[in-house]
Amino acid sequence: MTDIHYLNHLRIPTVEDPLRILVSACLTGIMCGVDGDNYGEYPSVLKLMKYKNVQLIPFCPEDHSFGTPREMCDIHGGTGVDVLSGKAKVLTESGVDWTAGMINASEKMLEIAIQKKIELAVMMDISAACGSQVIYDGNRLVEDKKYQIGMGVCAAQLFRAGFKVISQRDFAALEILYSKIDPEHVVNPQANDHDQHEWYLEYFKKSGE
Ligand code: SF4
Repeated sequence: MTDIHYLNHLRIPTVEDPLRILVSACLTGIMCGVDGDNYGEYPSVLKLMKYKNVQLIPFCPEDHSFGTPREMCDIHGGTGVDVLSGKAKVLTESGVDWTAGMINASEKMLEIAIQKKIELAVMMDISAACGSQVIYDGNRLVEDKKYQIGMGVCAAQLFRAGFKVISQRDFAALEILYSKIDPEHVVNPQANDHDQHEWYLEYFKKSGE
């Protein structure tokens, strides 16, 4: 659930003192996806790159620990919070245990967040590392793949330390962000966050979460 109150109270940034935003590197076009791709264009995030009063700090936690290209990985037995507390594991598609490497990546991401004094993180939802609202429940490559509500390991690490995380699909939150950055931006009142999307409401009602 996005902290709208926090976003409403974000400061108005200037060119001299830009808003510091940590961002999943793939969302900025960096080719750090599992297969060396950037997972496509996300105009909601690319838009942030054009403002001089925004300092984007891109980081790919999986690339940090496992390199690119790499295997696909997912969380088994819980969410990113559970991985951090030792109750769930991160396994690759071929069953290799990446739990320790993913925790290491999350610690690096937290170190960067603290060092750069970030004010917000915008991260790729659904990822076992960067997801903030929804992640896969176990291996995403099986025929009956399942989703669960929860954060990936790195988003959970940031959240646990008190940083605010939104995703590239939290359009209502992004609207507030744009309005802080750009005085001419007119907020779209129809915009929805990921947990208000039709797909999300329908899927999790169906799956009983
Ligand atoms: S979602 Fe996160 S871990 Fe995956 S490619 Fe993007 S930045 Fe890297």
